[in-house]
Amino acid sequence: MQGLMQDWPLLVHKILDHAAIQHGGREVVSRSVEGPIHRTDYSELRHRSLRVAQALDRFGIVGGDRVATLAWNTWRHLEIWYGINGVGAIYHTINPRLFPEQIAYIVNHAADRILFTDLTFLPLVEALAGHLKTLELVVVMTDAEHMPDSKLANAVSYEEWIAGCDGNFVWKDVDENAASGMCYTSGTTGNPKGVVYSHRSNILHAMMAAATDMMGLSFNDTVLPVVPMFHANCWSLAFAAPMNGARLVMPGAKMDGASIWELLDSEKVTLSAAVPTVWMMLLQHMEETGKKLPHLTRVVIGGAACPRVIIDKFENDYDVQVIHAWGMTELSPLGTVCTIKPEYGGLRGEALLDIKETQGHPPFGVEIKITNDAGKSLPWDGKTFGRLKVRGPAIARAYYRDDSDILDDEGYMDTGDVATIDQNGYMRITDRSKDVIKSGGEWISSIDLENIAVGHPHVAEAAVIGIAHPKWDERPLLIVVPKKGETPEAESILAHLEGKVAKWWMPDAVVFVEEIPHTATGKIQKMALREKFSDYVLPTADQD
Ligand code: ADP
Repeated sequence: MQGLMQDWPLLVHKILDHAAIQHGGREVVSRSVEGPIHRTDYSELRHRSLRVAQALDRFGIVGGDRVATLAWNTWRHLEIWYGINGVGAIYHTINPRLFPEQIAYIVNHAADRILFTDLTFLPLVEALAGHLKTLELVVVMTDAEHMPDSKLANAVSYEEWIAGCDGNFVWKDVDENAASGMCYTSGTTGNPKGVVYSHRSNILHAMMAAATDMMGLSFNDTVLPVVPMFHANCWSLAFAAPMNGARLVMPGAKMDGASIWELLDSEKVTLSAAVPTVWMMLLQHMEETGKKLPHLTRVVIGGAACPRVIIDKFENDYDVQVIHAWGMTELSPLGTVCTIKPEYGGLRGEALLDIKETQGHPPFGVEIKITNDAGKSLPWDGKTFGRLKVRGPAIARAYYRDDSDILDDEGYMDTGDVATIDQNGYMRITDRSKDVIKSGGEWISSIDLENIAVGHPHVAEAAVIGIAHPKWDERPLLIVVPKKGETPEAESILAHLEGKVAKWWMPDAVVFVEEIPHTATGKIQKMALREKFSDYVLPTADQD
């Protein structure tokens, strides 16, 4: 027997309809790429999205076509996403921090027909134009007044392009399982791989992400997604915020500590989300200036492990709750979120920080397990490391135009991360499987060592890699970027680690560098570091 409920497909444009009807006057504030602060609301945003959909329709974009964006977080980027989905096409966000060859590769691989670009990236598009085989039109996200002379034959300013469209358009309905968005993983090895979200997965994921014990979004919130729309689906905030009627503040191109502080303060932001490096810059700015953030209540921190010192400072110095989250492009991206279950409700001080440092527990709709190399499930004891595997309705089952089978017999995808899970379901990432340090048959977590090292008052950033060792296979090397103006000694950093990790985890050496390389999504580029230190000989190499 079938249920007798209405057939109401889960389509992304319905989010914007709901926001415009129920929260039409709620503001969307942006730092425009041109400079000034821009203000609109969900009602106007929906109307302009309809104009975008109409313009795409007139151009001949049809269901299933890919339309790319190379853009910062602004109101225009939002209305373009919804406009693309509203005509049944697929938004393809491009991370501008990828190598130019990778950008050309993914535009061609996705066969994008139109590219929307911010002014910032126009020179990049011009330089690549000869390689972008499938592009028919480049829409520059600005008005006629700011439109530069472009070398491109097929470039038009956004405001002029939609000027002739009145918004008298009806969203195209598609199947809820039809593709809605595409995001390529940065591909530290090999070519980037295309993750394809469906309308259904985007809607279910936004509901999961917004739930009370996840990000806990409300129409009383003002949300500032520092996390770019091109990074892993904007951690769902471009959907979850309008779905819940939250006021949105979009940071545009400026993500330094001072600019983010200014927006958080002037717009009275209550919830923000970003990778740890952004929060490091903000905290440093606040420490230097003595500024505070009385309105901010929560920060979501993910994309890389959040060092304990960040959690400690936000929670204890600034009274801001840290929501540590783990995810991946392939998971839409949210996998786990660290909020406190009643089982840990009584914890305080360092014991609470121990839990907050974990990546937390999954929402309904994400199932997790850890296994050994043979695929056998490992115990949830908070100690045993294993390969982290996931399944759920907003998790990739395959990559775009790629035949490889990425699921195990039970339908789980291997995340490439190594983790422990405790008896209450709290997951802790200990490493990427390719970064874990194998010493004497045991594993050392590079992430744990890095997180403790950055707690040293003179350390700005730290990375740990395994260096070949004649007796132990590999031993940890700690690479440190000192804080500006500081010259810490190796001994003082090692002393800071002592007692906080097992003796045999202690790095065999510390080296100081001016800079640590990062990937396009802000993660430490371990591969580049391993290459740089490939000839490095540990001082312990000739000792027992
Ligand atoms: P990309 O792989 O393109 O850089 P993703 O954002 O999809 O972008 O990267 C996902 C990976 O980032 C995860 O598999 C994990 O290794 C790492 N990661 C994300 N969040 C965390 C976190 N809170 N703690 C530790 N690692 C994290």
